[in-house]
Amino acid sequence: MIRLVRPALPADLAGRLPGLTAEIGGAANPARAARALWKQAAVRRGVHAPLRRLLEGMAPGYQRCMYCGDSQGTDIDHFEPLSRNPLRTFDWLNHLLACSTCNSNLKRDRFPVAGDGTPLLVDPTTEDPFDHLLLTLSLGVYVARTAKGEATIDVCGLNRPVLTQGRVHARRVVLMCLARWAAGRERGAADDVRDAVLTVRGQPFADVCQAMLRLARSPGAERVFEESPWALPVLRDDELRAQLLA
Ligand SMILES: [Zn+2]
Repeated sequence: MIRLVRPALPADLAGRLPGLTAEIGGAANPARAARALWKQAAVRRGVHAPLRRLLEGMAPGYQRCMYCGDSQGTDIDHFEPLSRNPLRTFDWLNHLLACSTCNSNLKRDRFPVAGDGTPLLVDPTTEDPFDHLLLTLSLGVYVARTAKGEATIDVCGLNRPVLTQGRVHARRVVLMCLARWAAGRERGAADDVRDAVLTVRGQPFADVCQAMLRLARSPGAERVFEESPWALPVLRDDELRAQLLA
């Protein structure tokens, strides 16, 4: 999971959503009304489609899921589930792009909160996941930094084996690209430098490269990169960071 920037809604769409929310608010059973309205054919065409386009533009890589970073984001996910807060069904700030595994099989209606009611899930559009989640690069495993991180790992299944294996693989790809980037720059081969950047930016698991860039400038970096010490100065290079940092 990486930090994402949410753009403002286009005026026409922003103008349409409050009416739909009012319709839900006025219903005898708001949760049922929200579900029915969300599935309506006209809403799918007129609201889902433009929302999805905006979310796809925000998502890492090629429309990857905002939770796992692996699979294609196919679903508009309600961060705060519709069953818990139907009035946020058409709230743009409550929409994320998720794959069907994260959205329908794992997260579903789960929305843990702390004793004071604060959500315990990381919202990558309002906070930096790096503050809550530490990626162990050699294993591809997330370790919680906070209670929020712990709940997010649990609810989104962030350490399921297909993801940890994918992150280990993604790290290998990033390291190969870093070597190509450094060698390319050394001998003035602009094509190699560009290919290395495009390969990293286009692959799933954007979190792996972002974690490498962050950890390279964190205390203990030498230990984290002890198997590939040559990569450390490359990851610390301002030119590379400008091309790869999210
Ligand atoms: Zn996912």
